[in-house]
Amino acid sequence: MADRPLAPASIAAQAGGAIDEATRAIVPPIHVAATFLRDEDNQYRSGFSYGRPDNASVRHAEIVLAALEGGASSLAFASGMAAATSCFLALAPGDHVVAPRVMYWSLRHWLAGFATRWGLAVEFVDAASTDAIEAAVKPGRTRLIWIETPANPLWHVTDIAATAAIARRAGARLVVDSTVAASVFTQPLALGADAVMHAATKYLNGHSDLVAGALVAAREDEWWERVRANRKELGAILGGFEAWLLVRGMRTLHPRVRWAARSAQRLAERFARDKRIVEVLYPGLATARGHEVAKRQMSGGFGGMLSIRVAGGEAAAIAAAARVRLWKRATSLGGVESLIEHRASVEGPGTPCPPDLLRLSVGVEDADDLAADLDQALAG
Ligand code: PLP
Repeated sequence: MADRPLAPASIAAQAGGAIDEATRAIVPPIHVAATFLRDEDNQYRSGFSYGRPDNASVRHAEIVLAALEGGASSLAFASGMAAATSCFLALAPGDHVVAPRVMYWSLRHWLAGFATRWGLAVEFVDAASTDAIEAAVKPGRTRLIWIETPANPLWHVTDIAATAAIARRAGARLVVDSTVAASVFTQPLALGADAVMHAATKYLNGHSDLVAGALVAAREDEWWERVRANRKELGAILGGFEAWLLVRGMRTLHPRVRWAARSAQRLAERFARDKRIVEVLYPGLATARGHEVAKRQMSGGFGGMLSIRVAGGEAAAIAAAARVRLWKRATSLGGVESLIEHRASVEGPGTPCPPDLLRLSVGVEDADDLAADLDQALAG
């Protein structure tokens, strides 16, 4: 084969090309050891000493993750929240950070609560507007700009390249929660981000059978070493078995996610014309706020997540969700099975999520089956 670099889909399908040297198996072994034998001269030449700082199955997942995102280094965590909070805990009390008003609710809650009490000055902005981000940044004091794009549950899109330029000018770092873009549709590091985060629980694994988080950094620097130290000291590493499952899940990442995005686009277009729907929120719709930015920074699709606002308000939305048969009423996203959720019930007081909104995670079922089920659920 010519010396052209492999496409991410090929890297994912073959789990980074790993072969088990001992057996020549094309599926890697699962490493679960908590401790390792020391050499007679007191060294640990294998590079492994204890299971809390490191694990060989975790390292394998990290090699694949770094390759998919085009980064210099990767760290896998026990959850998306562990990965995200480690980024902020690698700052110092007194530091200023900018975060979106519309973002994964649990992280917003942690930023407004624990992180603020710990001493971070957190400013929430409309991150669909780079002017708003720029206005919030305090050069020399802002250390981190956090964005999520497309962002839960309204699927706002943030211009990554423009935000990276703002961060650079201010001497801050840009970290992108790219869970919904799934490493397939957007490459935040190539657009200038310093690090990318994934709730690997979602698309990267894709089978709703593990909880995991991932960070990939553009470069290894002091901040990244503090993130690594946080993972070790807080015991936030991903388990060996989960890391193996994650690698297994990532092998089918590209076909799963591209299929889901195609179906999501069809569903969005179909229900955007439906009188029982007030609004369909999906970055792939030409009418969506942020569609032009999404077209620039997403390629191959706009992801598998959309939301619908049901005519008749909260009660009508909850009643429609109660009538689905194929869709599953459950939280989370990014699995092969399609999920539907009344999101405001999950997010609680202070949410920017309208009460009539149902969040849809499109899986890999037949798109016509999904549309028909939604149709009968809305019909009542
Ligand atoms: N980021 C996004 C966009 C999410 O949807 C989630 C979980 O739903 C998280 C982060 C947190 O991930 P986890 O549940 O694995 O901690």
